[in-house]
Amino acid sequence: MWQTILVGDSGVGKTSLLVQFDQGKFIPGSFSATVGIGFTVHKSNRTIWDTAGQERFRSVTHAYYRDAQALLLLYDITNKSSFDNIRAWLTEIHEYAQQDVVIMLLGNKADMASERVIRRDEGEKLAREHSVPFMETSAKTGVNVELAFTAVAKELKHRA
Ligand code: GDP
Ligand code: MG
Repeated sequence: MWQTILVGDSGVGKTSLLVQFDQGKFIPGSFSATVGIGFTVHKSNRTIWDTAGQERFRSVTHAYYRDAQALLLLYDITNKSSFDNIRAWLTEIHEYAQQDVVIMLLGNKADMASERVIRRDEGEKLAREHSVPFMETSAKTGVNVELAFTAVAKELKHRA
């Protein structure tokens, strides 16, 4: 059983991405940020955990990181601070997660072209610097959502 967790600033679209992956649809509006483990999806041999109300640094519990084999790290292409915070997220991940954890960086809300503030190549560059794969996704249109989860699953299988 593999465990994947979604991390990143509040509002970047973690819950929406997981809902899109699980149900193939976009439910607009923010999901309530209940403290604790949020939405969970079980698919074949993996469990994917959403984080909710833990989006401040140092607040995702260590056990949560420790048990994860994979991490989807999200920012919002229309929100600069969510992008700037990726470095801090990575520092925290490297501190608490398993050493060989599979990480994928996702620039979400790719459908919001007119409000974009982070260019695709900026995301690519950051991912390269940290040697992690990168994709832009949209929880709204579904673009690259299946692909992102599939890529992580493949990498996990490859390492098993
Ligand atoms: P979370 O706090 O990271 O779980 O973010 P949510 O999933 O609650 O999403 C925050 C807000 O962004 C909500 O209003 C969502 O409807 C919206 N949202 C999330 N993903 C996307 C996306 O890919 N495109 C657009 N246009 N809106 C999105
Ligand atoms: Mg959420």
